[in-house]
Amino acid sequence: APDVVTFGETMAALRANGPLRLGGSLGLSMAGAESNVAVGLARLGHRVRWAGRVGADELGALVLRTLRAEGVDTGYAITDDSGRPTGLLLTEPRLGTLTRVSYYRAGSAGSAVSPADVLPALASGPRVLHLTGITPALSASAAEAALAAATTAREAGITVCLDVNYRSRLWSADRARTVLRPLLSRTDLLIASEDELPLMLERPDADESEGVKSLLAAGVREVVIKRGARGATTCTADGATDRPARQVDAVDLVGAGDAFVAGYLSGLLHGADIPDRLHRAVTTAAFAVGTRGDWEGLPTEDELGLLDRPDGTTIR
Ligand code: ATP
Repeated sequence: APDVVTFGETMAALRANGPLRLGGSLGLSMAGAESNVAVGLARLGHRVRWAGRVGADELGALVLRTLRAEGVDTGYAITDDSGRPTGLLLTEPRLGTLTRVSYYRAGSAGSAVSPADVLPALASGPRVLHLTGITPALSASAAEAALAAATTAREAGITVCLDVNYRSRLWSADRARTVLRPLLSRTDLLIASEDELPLMLERPDADESEGVKSLLAAGVREVVIKRGARGATTCTADGATDRPARQVDAVDLVGAGDAFVAGYLSGLLHGADIPDRLHRAVTTAAFAVGTRGDWEGLPTEDELGLLDRPDGTTIR
């Protein structure tokens, strides 16, 4: 049985080396917030299941093959038989670490995910269910799937982790608040970046400590706030714990948040205390920031110590 179950939309990702409008060659890979977390956890040695829908097409086969190659259980993934395609995104580096992403996901197989698709994946009783706020933005059935999974997991005593992951291209902040706030009463571990936190609050203008207090009062056990290059903070009823980010030359920031979640959940699964969960999280995030691709550079357990080695070290 898996330690962690997650689901969401995973797309094919085409990566350019320069401006897309100039053409040229693209590299083909896959991308999806939840599958990034799944790969990160699998690399660290945890048993992870990814559920969700892909198209009955070559890009869907690529997604499933890649996940399997990374050791992620795809036994509950569904291949859509209604002709919906696998979603697609294109990335182009523009300036330094500033990257532009274009999505082709409307009407995709991944956005048609439903409660009946995902609930069976939870039946084996994992320790953690990981959701992101992207899934409920994809469609009504996807929003139902997230709510049903969170409700079922909560009732079964499975730890529910929600990463807010607000995507302004998919919905407005008001819509997101309306749909995501009902998930709070089912959430044990809430992860948000500083600018996403107001989305989860009844009073969006509350200051951070007041906001956190209201989330803890609503039943969230642990609120983790990501602060980019400044690190992260975990807040519980016992107080707040800060952790600075690891020093690393930033190459590609996309996927840092997902890598952070993988590290954090890995610490949780190992029974680590909050400072050690945060340490693992900022370490895995630094690998995502310091390497190209959303998930390709994520560390195995053996590699976590590489960040402590001096720059220029050759490993023989
Ligand atoms: P994204 O959505 O782009 O994946 P995010 O907005 O969810 O990211 P951030 O707060 O930007 O999340 O980054 C998550 C974590 O990644 C931070 O808490 C930090 O540990 C690490 N991180 C981000 N930027 C840097 C950086 N420049 N150097 C080192 N670590 C970084």
